Amino acid sequence: MEVTSIKDGIIIDHVDAGTALTVLRYLKVDPTTTKLALIMNASSHALGAKDIIKIEDVEDLNLDALGLVAPHATINIVRGGGIVNKRQPGLPEHLVGVISCRNPRCVTTAERGLEQRFHLANAQRAEYRCDYCDEEAKL
Ligand SMILES: [Zn+2]
Repeated sequence: MEVTSIKDGIIIDHVDAGTALTVLRYLKVDPTTTKLALIMNASSHALGAKDIIKIEDVEDLNLDALGLVAPHATINIVRGGGIVNKRQPGLPEHLVGVISCRNPRCVTTAERGLEQRFHLANAQRAEYRCDYCDEEAKL
C-alpha cells in the first residue's frame, strides 16, 4: 500500500487501533466536510494493529490533542506527494479549547462561554489539570 496517496496534507500514522474516530473528534475534524481517508486496524509490526488517518488539504489543524489521544502516533506532513516532515506528537504545556472539564462544580460548567483551559501537570503520565478547579482531565 502506498504510504502517501495524498498530495498535500497530514498523515497521522501509528494511531492505536480502533481510536481513529476518537482522534478525529478531538482534533475537531468534521468528517462530513473534510477530505480524509481512514485505514482502521491495519497490521503493524510495532503495534500489532494500528489506524492511519490521512487528511487532505489541511493548513491549520490544531494537533495539540494528539499527545493525549494518540501518544504513539507519527505525524507526517505531506507536500507535493512527499513527506517533508515527520514528528511525534508532543505534550503541550497548555490545552485551550481541546478538552472539557468534567467537574460539575467547576466554574466552566456554570459559566457557558468560558474557555476550557488545562495545563500539563505531569508530563510522564500525560496528566492535564483544569486551570480553574485543578480537576484531572479525562478523555
Ligand atoms: Zn474545571
